[in-house]
Amino acid sequence: MPDVILRLALPSPLRRLFDYRAPAGVDAAQLQPGMRLRVPFGRREMIGVLIEVTDHTDVPLDKLRPASALLDPTSPIPESMFKLCLWTAQYYQHGLGDTLSWALPVLLRQGEPAEARQERFWQIAPGAQLDDPRIARAPRQREALTTLAQHPHGVAHQLLSKLQLSKDSLDLLLAKALVTVEVRRHAPVERHDRWLAQPELPLNSEQRAAFEAVRAGFDSFHAFLLAGVTGSGKTEVYLQLIRETLEAGKQALVLIPEINLGPQTLARFEQRFNARIALLHSAVNDRERLDAWLAARDGEADIIIGTRSALFTPMKNPGLIIIDEEHDGSYKQQEGLRYHARDLALVRARQENIPILLGSATPSLESLHNAYTGRYGLLRLEHRAGGAQQPKFMRLDVKSRPLDSGISGPMQQAIGQTLERGQQVLVFLNRRGFAPTLLCHDCGWLSECPRCDARTTVHQRSGELRCHHCGHVERVPRQCPKCGTKDLRPVGAGTERAEERLTTLFPDYPVLRVDRDSTSRKDAMNQLFATIQRGQPCILVGTQMLAKGHHFPRVTLVSILDADGGLFSGDFRASERMAQLIVQVAGRAGRAEEPGKVIIQTHLAEHPLLVQLTEQGYFAFAEQAISERRAAGLPPFSHLALLRAEAHKPGQAEGFLDEACSAAEQLLAQMGPNSIELLGPVPAPMERRAGRYRAQLLVQAGARAQLHRLLNAWMLQLEQMPSGRQVRWSLDVDPVDLY
Ligand code: ADP
Ligand code: ZN
Ligand code: ZN
Repeated sequence: MPDVILRLALPSPLRRLFDYRAPAGVDAAQLQPGMRLRVPFGRREMIGVLIEVTDHTDVPLDKLRPASALLDPTSPIPESMFKLCLWTAQYYQHGLGDTLSWALPVLLRQGEPAEARQERFWQIAPGAQLDDPRIARAPRQREALTTLAQHPHGVAHQLLSKLQLSKDSLDLLLAKALVTVEVRRHAPVERHDRWLAQPELPLNSEQRAAFEAVRAGFDSFHAFLLAGVTGSGKTEVYLQLIRETLEAGKQALVLIPEINLGPQTLARFEQRFNARIALLHSAVNDRERLDAWLAARDGEADIIIGTRSALFTPMKNPGLIIIDEEHDGSYKQQEGLRYHARDLALVRARQENIPILLGSATPSLESLHNAYTGRYGLLRLEHRAGGAQQPKFMRLDVKSRPLDSGISGPMQQAIGQTLERGQQVLVFLNRRGFAPTLLCHDCGWLSECPRCDARTTVHQRSGELRCHHCGHVERVPRQCPKCGTKDLRPVGAGTERAEERLTTLFPDYPVLRVDRDSTSRKDAMNQLFATIQRGQPCILVGTQMLAKGHHFPRVTLVSILDADGGLFSGDFRASERMAQLIVQVAGRAGRAEEPGKVIIQTHLAEHPLLVQLTEQGYFAFAEQAISERRAAGLPPFSHLALLRAEAHKPGQAEGFLDEACSAAEQLLAQMGPNSIELLGPVPAPMERRAGRYRAQLLVQAGARAQLHRLLNAWMLQLEQMPSGRQVRWSLDVDPVDLY
């Protein structure tokens, strides 16, 4: 009899599969890839996913252990999702087991049954009458019965409170046999032709053209970039395309950056449709996540909305994928499996042969390049839907002007005039805290983090120095730790200082601060926004949290205190990010009658990228930036992989990378002529962080296939290198941050 060997992916960082025998009493014929098995692993047990059944193994047969139990009667992971995970593991050079761990809901990994939960459903009893004399004098029971009568399929127990049905009334009705309660799997599938719960807005001509273009591509894989200025009605286009998808009997997957998944966004989807919406974001608990995943898989959710990892939600009848704010950095995972959800969404759409729509007011240069070269259909919305005007940009040259807590004189005047006209001001400064560092005026001592090559930020309100890189916190010293004098001065300005200064300058107006420190309390943000919506003149000071999701129709002046960081950073993506941030912040303002004005303080008023952005707009900026990338051979005109290493001892990380570099050089020599360059190893831009010394080696390739050929062979060697055991290392394919 041939041996039956089960090859499993286990949740281990090792990039290999593990072989087992079938569990006792399990017939090989019933095994399918995707099924989960409980297996012994060392002295522990783990849950693995069956990848294949084979008849050979490299493990001596007498060492092969049997799996302890088979957990699934059929594979819980649909083939399409399996395929996507295989592709992901290969592309990102990541272990399949760990890839599955990132992709699957945590409860599935822990062995929870992959079946939707049974639920209790309340229903009106057959023959029950609303005018039953027994409830003639019980108005609440009568009301409850009336509500149930409107839901012939029954009401799930967990929805009782949403429908204002009280459990007490239902229990009384149950005792009178006027209602029944039944435990079953889920509500009957509701196929209907009334998907709209609310009328649609008539599309304007730009929206209509975009809508028609995507609809014409509904039958198969097509990628589109919807480049529409903020407020141009991209969301309305999404909603109408989703309606088309639902009408075709299919499901839609919508990815949104974490921070946008506020109640406002969700409400728009929920109000529009009579549809089952599955939510997958960080505030959803493990059970809800599994339920949403199962509902989507089984075709019991019509719309799936979620953040990055929702990309891995299977769909029974996939019809459309939408990536909102496709430029957003949160789509790239920065730990473990370093995938980019937007890039994978394109792979998925191609595999499932469905259309995909990327939307943004400030598309990434990569996506724009794909659109300009014809790989994506380019759909432009150039006008604001409500008729509001685009804001006007001005550069304010602050060279040799005194800055008062970061705010120049002309900027103060502009703020004052706006407030006097009864309007609101938004002050943007992408640095939280009071000041970026503390300086001793006598000896020049600067407050530094003991664990990082970084200054600590002064947080005046809490009296602390904090490191924004590792979380280190200490009290603000009373005197200089070096020379003992008391003349310690905060240098530079963060949002806390700007807030304090603005409060002094404009005592008659409220100043509201929005950053991670001010809004860590739950709901604080929403309270703030309620204040702002009321419309009185006020000043809003904040970080990039202001750039996302919310609309401030009463804001007519946007003050950008510092844009220069993005113009002289060593990171080649910094200027793109800065431009996106400025345009996104500006886009929050002046939506209504009053046009907005954006004033940018800068020491580089004549910088070509800043001039392009402020005078010609984002797309002119982007074209210039793309041509600079082409000239420099940077993405999207080349492909990158970054090998990072860190260690407690200085030099260790570089030692490993030196060895890795030699190995790569040898492989390249064997490959023959190629377009690959190795840059480094070099210390990371911030060499020491959280007590570890960090270094990196960048691989740059003109051709993607060559890069992957190198990586495939290289990773196998890196895993064998003894010097690699003393460091923490990771490979980042298509890195976004070069730190
Ligand atoms: P975006 O997603 O591009 O930022 P939204 O979809 O949020 O834009 O639309 C901005 C505003 O314009 C919203 O208040 C929306 O209700 C309104 N709007 C969108 N499309 C239309 C339309 N066709 N007619 C009238 N108003 C519209
Ligand atoms: Zn000193
Ligand atoms: Zn630190």
